Amino acid sequence: MASKPQFKRVLLKISGEVLMGNREYGIDPDTTARMAGEIKDVADMGVQVCVAIGGGNIFRGVAGAANGMDRVTADYIGMLAIIMNALALQSALEKIGVHCRVQSAIPVDAVCEPFIRRRALRHVEKGRVVIFAAGIGNPYFTSDTAGALRASELNCDALMKGTKVNGIFTDDPQKNPDAKHIAELTHMDILQKNLKVMDPAAVSIARDNHVPIVVFNIREHHNFKRVVCGEGQYTIVRSPKAAAA
Ligand code: UDP
Repeated sequence: MASKPQFKRVLLKISGEVLMGNREYGIDPDTTARMAGEIKDVADMGVQVCVAIGGGNIFRGVAGAANGMDRVTADYIGMLAIIMNALALQSALEKIGVHCRVQSAIPVDAVCEPFIRRRALRHVEKGRVVIFAAGIGNPYFTSDTAGALRASELNCDALMKGTKVNGIFTDDPQKNPDAKHIAELTHMDILQKNLKVMDPAAVSIARDNHVPIVVFNIREHHNFKRVVCGEGQYTIVRSPKAAAA
């Protein structure tokens, strides 16, 4: 593909379920390897890539709390699950020759670096992929919020939200065949219409810091690269100021 990337630095947010493949739980090695390939495709174009990963394929705090566990403890378990996913993705990336670092919001010195913004910036400037683990390190938050926060802190040109569908629709396209694709909208549209794209805290952080959110289908092969180059179907969420620029 001779296409040119439209962003210099992006943060890819993927949920833990993306690593699950067709399994019902945990990490599928083939799917994780494919995801690493998607990231390599983009990094090979000279785009600086950060990743914020979730942990829902292993543990969700809300589900733990619903089963009687203390919510804060359950959230810490969720954050530890994210670290496991981050290590699996790091391993898959290194296997295909991508230099990579995991930085965790909860220090786990023996297994990865702690999150240090300036160090993360140095890594991405050197072309290393940085995977942010353990969310923001606080209970009651999600890895979506971590994605928006880290994208803001690292001055990313876009927060790329990899999902199961090609962007935002007027209704659930998997249930309603008449659902129409929306090419562009604002952060405020998402908040006001309560669209289930990312959690509101994440959308607010992206809005306040003028970080566009690109919603695209990560399950389609080579789509991350395609969308970074402005091709294929996706939705871009940006503030009116950015849209007018
Ligand atoms: N979590 C948290 N604080 C954070 C990020 C995550 O407490 O900053 C916990 C929370 O329990 C959440 C779990 O980690 O349910 C897994 O993260 P998330 O649900 O965001 O994963 P995803 O849905 O993206 O796979």
